[in-house]
Amino acid sequence: MSRIAYVNGSYVPHGEAAVHVEDRGYQFADGVYEVCEVRGGRLVDERRHMERLERSLKELRIAMPMTLKALGVVLRETVRRNRVRDGIVYLQITRGVAPRDHAFPTKPVVPSVVVTAKRLDFAAGEKSAATGIAVVTVAENRWPRVDIKSVALLPNVLAKQAAREQGAKEAWYVDASGHVTEGSSSNAWIVTKQNKVVTRSAESGILRGITRSVLLDVLKDQGLTLEERAFTVDEALDAREAFVTSASQLVMPVVAIDGRPVANGAPGLVAGALRRDFHTRAEIS
Ligand code: PMP
Repeated sequence: MSRIAYVNGSYVPHGEAAVHVEDRGYQFADGVYEVCEVRGGRLVDERRHMERLERSLKELRIAMPMTLKALGVVLRETVRRNRVRDGIVYLQITRGVAPRDHAFPTKPVVPSVVVTAKRLDFAAGEKSAATGIAVVTVAENRWPRVDIKSVALLPNVLAKQAAREQGAKEAWYVDASGHVTEGSSSNAWIVTKQNKVVTRSAESGILRGITRSVLLDVLKDQGLTLEERAFTVDEALDAREAFVTSASQLVMPVVAIDGRPVANGAPGLVAGALRRDFHTRAEIS
């Protein structure tokens, strides 16, 4: 079946979908994005993703190109046209097309909007979760505004490649003080030997993950104690469990860091229960 992309008002064959060479997303990575899980053909946590999108746009002073209602229609139509039942929908908004100049265009431009959808093999995700993934650590080298979900992802690209070259699935950034900030495309968590669930505060150094936010509610439901604070790699290695969260991976156990096992090197019970119950607190619409 042929894939369809939404580009600036039109649904076009994926293979022919294109933006202008002077789109500021292409020239400067001057844009933002969101990735929503699609489950049973419906969007997971659309409201929270759209709230974060609005915030990212505001921080970069890019105008919202259409109403949230219209955007919701486009997201669903792209999912429908691609016949995605389980997968993800990707949305990107850039400042638009203008003659190349670093500063904002002086004449008003219309932001560019691109939406794509793709199927994911949820069974493969479950299989990964049953064995857990390995992560490697890399030095934090991103700009401080990682709270903005910008398409400027070069450090994340290099980190993920470093992970792949070492046979791992994710890279954890470690800041100058030796604390883990987050993964290249996920938030990082540990469960201590005292059964406390620890994740870095969203106030600095990380993207406020939507999966992370929803999981805070699931934690409460399960009566687990949360500590929002930074943790070191040594603390993670000494932990009972470690895991990462993202819209496409949900809750994914981490069983090795830099080739050393976390606890007994097997996925933990807390991560398993959080993964199982994640959608009880997600909004599916
Ligand atoms: N941090 C980074 C750097 C990410 O790219 C992502 C995934 N988009 C996350 C955290 C997790 O965010 P979410 O749960 O909203 O997918």
